[in-house]
Amino acid sequence: MPKACSAINCPNRDTRENRAKGLSFHSFPKAHELRKKWILAVNRIEPSSRKLWIPGSGACLCSEHFSQEEFEIYGGQKRLKAGVIPSVFSFKVSWQREENYPKRG
Ligand SMILES: [Zn+2]
Repeated sequence: MPKACSAINCPNRDTRENRAKGLSFHSFPKAHELRKKWILAVNRIEPSSRKLWIPGSGACLCSEHFSQEEFEIYGGQKRLKAGVIPSVFSFKVSWQREENYPKRG
């Protein structure tokens, strides 16, 4: 099963057709601070718990959620520049606040 974009209202899947259209798929960063920024940017709420959604290991975002200047070509592959945060989403930002991020521990 192909990877699917984790953004709300985004139907994009990591298929050959989409790759041919120039879409690329990017895993959530491992670095804690940056990962947190991505989670806040994605702004997804788990319907069952009504808590902020936390990405699983296979979670990724497609290139539609980043602006063009946030990519660089490296070794013939399109990749994100370091420290980039997704910014292009189809919903209104309301949960994108620090206090909504679940505390650790
Ligand atoms: Zn997407």
